[in-house]
Amino acid sequence: MYEDLSLYIDGEFLKGGGRREQDILNPATDEVIGKLPHASKEDLDRALAAAQKAFQSWRRSSPMERSRVLRKVAELARERANDIGRNITLDQGKPLAEAVGEVTACSEHAEWAAEECRRIYGRVIQPRAEGVRQLVLKEPIGVCAAFSPWNFPFNQAIRKMVSALGAGCTIIVKGPEDSPSAVVALARLFHDAGLPPGCLNLVWGVPSEVSTYLIHSPIVRKISFTGSVPVGKQLAAMAGALMKPCTMELGGHSPVIVCEDADVDAAADMMAASKFRNAGQVCVSPTRFYVQEKAYDRFVARFLDKVSKLKVGPGLEADTKMGPLAHRRRVPAIAGFVEDADARGATILAGGHPMGGRGNFFEPTVVADAPDDSKLMTQEPFGPIMGVKRFKTLDEAIERANSLPYGLAAYAFTTSTRNATRLGDALESGMVTINHLGFALAETPFGGVKDSGYGSEGGTETFDGYLVTKFVTQKN
Ligand code: NAD
Repeated sequence: MYEDLSLYIDGEFLKGGGRREQDILNPATDEVIGKLPHASKEDLDRALAAAQKAFQSWRRSSPMERSRVLRKVAELARERANDIGRNITLDQGKPLAEAVGEVTACSEHAEWAAEECRRIYGRVIQPRAEGVRQLVLKEPIGVCAAFSPWNFPFNQAIRKMVSALGAGCTIIVKGPEDSPSAVVALARLFHDAGLPPGCLNLVWGVPSEVSTYLIHSPIVRKISFTGSVPVGKQLAAMAGALMKPCTMELGGHSPVIVCEDADVDAAADMMAASKFRNAGQVCVSPTRFYVQEKAYDRFVARFLDKVSKLKVGPGLEADTKMGPLAHRRRVPAIAGFVEDADARGATILAGGHPMGGRGNFFEPTVVADAPDDSKLMTQEPFGPIMGVKRFKTLDEAIERANSLPYGLAAYAFTTSTRNATRLGDALESGMVTINHLGFALAETPFGGVKDSGYGSEGGTETFDGYLVTKFVTQKN
């Protein structure tokens, strides 16, 4: 059975009641699999009031109590991972193993927050005068509004929930209307784990209407958004005008630098697996490949061999390695990158076309020699497509890697320690992984620089955006 889609407000799962409903489609078959209730203005007001009321007690809850709820969420998530994963495959499209893996791996975020929330400390500053006591306190910022995306519906929502709740905040989440089941499942996990009513609220609707309403509410004190750069800039500007801090995890256009001294075969194998995971709909997906001249032919041949063996199909079929794009609008978007590259003299080495028939399938696509100023090499493609080009010197590769406004993730392959250190230092990116795939673990920070946003969720930084610093000085 597909998830029973609902709102979750003040501890109640709500639907029907004359609320507007949106059809949820299976991206592999175009079939309607569910009806998603949209929140009315009254629902949003109720969620705001519930979050505000719950904050008064949750902010004073002991870290042990918060930790207990978060641990229970992780335990229940693992128990339910197969069902939650299956529903992610049904509404988002990714292969079942990836979907179940998303749930089990990301349960760790709840455990990490459960551990770290017991270590939210302040400090004591030595006074200048006798009898003065100077304290730095870390307090939860208040009611948060979070907007989570459709590509990793479980992963992206749980990070925001556990960061806010672990810090002692309450939160209203607007999940992704394109793939909502995992976020409803998350609300059930928290409900069943004993989270008090009002601490977590889940709403759905027209994204711009809900975000505008929540951000403008004086009850909301902090915004967290994961999604595209243009929407992130709009929301950050709105929040900035109201002096509300944000965590913004936006798009990327990740460079991959393969040096000629690298283990080229290993680099090609790792990157081919990583590139087409979730059909390339990954903010840290490798997209711009710069391969040093002597390694180029070997890398490209090996990469193309892997791509030729990639089975594309519905995510519930056992041998599928890449599913459909999550929704219909992404198909012409990816085709647009191919058309522009083709018109600009690039060579399409593999794929390049929608796969026709039912569902939003697009061929895994490899494009060589698209000009540096082409659409593919300058705008985030967010799909199963990548560009590959040669470089001569490491200086040149670093300059090209850093040439865009994005700065989320970067990949590099080299056996030279000197080169590795240089790349780690020089790449303008929130995250750099060298010779392996090392992003998005619960204990490591996840976030970007430049247009890719600011703030990190994960790592010991996970609560930074959800706490405020208060200084208390006292003379007895
Ligand atoms: P989009 O820009 O229309 O939407 C991106 C996300 O933001 C969606 O989840 C959408 O529901 C939400 N959104 C859109 N307008 C909003 C608003 N005014 N208020 C609140 N939320 C809003 O693009 P799309 O076609 O859905 O997705 C493609 C683009 O989204 C890609 O270019 C990629 O950059 C970005 N994206 C990024 C991530 C990420 O992990 N950083 C995840 C999903 C999508």
